[in-house]
Amino acid sequence: MHEMSLCESVVEILNSEARRQGFARVKTVWLEIGVLSGAEPEAMRFCFDAVTKGSLADGARLEIVQTEGQAWCLNCAKTVAVVQRFDACPECGGFQLQITGGDALRVRELEVE
Ligand SMILES: [Zn+2]
Repeated sequence: MHEMSLCESVVEILNSEARRQGFARVKTVWLEIGVLSGAEPEAMRFCFDAVTKGSLADGARLEIVQTEGQAWCLNCAKTVAVVQRFDACPECGGFQLQITGGDALRVRELEVE
């Protein structure tokens, strides 16, 4: 599953942050998921629980923050909202879109102890 490897990389981020900031446990993770990232929030929750077992984030709460998709339309020469990758521009119906936001997955905030 795609989400499994995404969650594994989240745990890697947590581990390196723990080394850098010197904390031992993670209580809550705020994870930003762009609607265009291809990650399903429900699947992420499921995998997160599985992947964090025995790690520094065992039993941690996962708060998912979904971010909107954004693209730059070459035709309209402006930023438009997109719901899916390969969608047409909602303004002009064209397909000359470059995704500029909402395709990322990142750890926004941590509650640690
Ligand atoms: Zn357009």
